[in-house]
Formats: sequence, C-alpha cells, structure tokens
Amino acid sequence: MTIDKIEIFEKAGTPLVVAGPCSAESEEQVMAVASALAGRVTLFRAGLWKPRTRPGCFEGVGKEALPWLQRVKREYRLPVATEVANAEHVELALSAGIDVLWVGARTTVNPFAVQEIADALRGCDVPVLVKNPVNPDLELWIGAFERLNNAGVSRLGAIHRGFSSYGEKCFRNAPQWQLPIELRRRLPDLPIICDPSHIAGKRELVMSLSQQAMDLNFDGLMIETHCNPVCALSDARQQVTPDELFLMLDRMVRRSAACGDSKLSSYRMQIDEIDDALMALIAKRMEVSREIGEVKRERGVAVFQAARYNEVMQRCEEYCRLARLDAEAMKDIFEVVHSESIRQQLDIVNDCIKK
Ligand code: PEP
Ligand code: MN
Repeated sequence: MTIDKIEIFEKAGTPLVVAGPCSAESEEQVMAVASALAGRVTLFRAGLWKPRTRPGCFEGVGKEALPWLQRVKREYRLPVATEVANAEHVELALSAGIDVLWVGARTTVNPFAVQEIADALRGCDVPVLVKNPVNPDLELWIGAFERLNNAGVSRLGAIHRGFSSYGEKCFRNAPQWQLPIELRRRLPDLPIICDPSHIAGKRELVMSLSQQAMDLNFDGLMIETHCNPVCALSDARQQVTPDELFLMLDRMVRRSAACGDSKLSSYRMQIDEIDDALMALIAKRMEVSREIGEVKRERGVAVFQAARYNEVMQRCEEYCRLARLDAEAMKDIFEVVHSESIRQQLDIVNDCIKK
C-alpha cells in the first residue's frame, strides 16, 4: 500500500488537533465554533449527514451546510472536514472544496459502502480518514484502506473511536487500545488519530482518554467541540466548549516517541479496561442476585441454599482447571462474591419484613 503524507498534518504540531461540532446545526453555530477555534486547531470538523442509531433523531442538515463550511475555510483560513457515507456525499463534498473527508464507523463495517466511496474518489486527490468499524475487526479496517488505496487515494489516515458492545459500560465505545496499536504495527506509515469524544460518550472522560492517546504516541486527536454542548442536536453529553478544549490541550503532557514507555502504558490501559469490565460484570451479577432475592421472598424460599453454593464453587473449580488458573485463589474471590450476593438478598428479605 502506498501511503503519502497529508500536508496540513505535516505542518501541524503534535498532537494534530481536529475539532468542531458533532453536527453542523446552523450557520451561526458553525461560525461561532470556527471563530473560537481558528488559529488553535489544524482542521475543522462538522458532520452534515449524520448516521443515527434510531430514526427520528437529528440526521444532519445535509448539503445546505456546505456553504457554511466554505465560509469557515474562506473567513478563518481553516481547512474543513466532513463525513461521507456514499458516492453522492463524496461528489457534493468535493465540488464544495472540502479539504479532508472521513468515513464513519458505521460505514467502515460495510465493504459495499466503502467500495462505493472509493469508486467515487477515483482520480481525486483528497485526503481521507477512516474511522475504525464499530466492531473490533482489524481486517475490516485495513480492508477499507486497501479499497481506497486501490482507487488511487494515497493520503490516508486512521481515526480510532472505540468499539461498541452490549450492556452497561464505562465508555460509550470501548477503547481496546490493542487494535490501533496492531494497526500501527501493520501499517507503520499511516497516521493514527484518536477520537476520545466517541470513545468516552461523556465529556468528563475526554481529557484522560486524550492523555492516554498521547502516552501511546497517537499522531493527533479529533475532539467534538460546541459553544453550547448541552443544547447540541447530537452527542450533547460528549462535546466540550472551545475553552475546555484549550484547557485540555494546555494540560496535556506530550510524550517523546523515544521514551519507550508506550508498551507499559498500553498494558496498563488494557488492565484498566479489564478492571472496568470486571466491575461492570460484578455489578450486573449483584443486580441478578437481587432479582433472585425477590423471587425467593415471593416463594418463601430460604436465601442461602447449600446445594447451589456448592454448584457455584464446583463450576469455578472446573473453569480454573480448563483455564489453568489457581483454584484456591479463585475460590477466595468467588467466596467473597457469593457472600456479597447473599448479603444483597438478605437486604431484600429484611426490607420486606421492616415494611
Ligand atoms: C461523528 O464523528 O460524529 C460520528 C458519527 O462518529 P462515528 O462514526 O465514530 O460514530
Ligand atoms: Mn458525534
């Protein structure tokens, strides 16, 4: 694969910063964010065509917003980027002079859609950033770069925005840092930007994720920025104000690529992710235990059931044997988990007695 450098990225310092609202909502909103960001960021982002999970949500203003991005470019000399999901978007964006295009996570999962975009880009010399697919499939991500590259697009970049999963979780999209790290190993010339906004899902986590991305030597950040985030028409919980963005950038510690610490940081981040998942699972287990407590109360069944306790411990032992884990250590952990479940159930029964 031939990957060429993207000039506007080359001129930027590290980290390269892409910022702007999740969606272009109105001309005033776009110009207000751009005016605050001008001079401080490398590339202005705004979504025109928004892929929404459920119908009925704000789906973007579409091509009506192209002249607003042209104004940003002209009046603030700020290069602009938007998301494209089909050939029509590509044609409209190119004829409006949009500087950089990106392919969204919900598009990267679909090889037909990526191929359609690649075909529409044949013969055009525009840089394209590709977000990871929503599911943690590195081959699908690399496949998208190959499709674009085969169509002659050589100025490519990746955006890591995390991976979706089912159930309660700390992040909107789990970072799974090992995937972008493996992407870097497989395509060392490809710049990789982190999008902490879509990983976090809430603005409070954006700073620490950005710092983690810096610790792992990412080439830049894409951070959703809005002058009035709570009123944003999409992704209101995760957008930050321009001032909050500047504060984060000022506080961020840049690491030198040579310090050799990134391997350690990557392992620590993996441990943190596993701990978060463990905690979420324990919380889920307690929730189910309390449901069981309700059923036991209704049916007049005793909370502690020795046979069930033995069954739980036996399953634990069996798993340890298969996974070559220390059975004694795991039994200690499970005893604590089980006794906390019993305590939760007793709570439910006692609550009812008090009433
Ligand atoms: C976005 O950048 O606003 C967006 C829709 O992101 P993603 O494709 O990562 O969900
Ligand atoms: Mn968004």
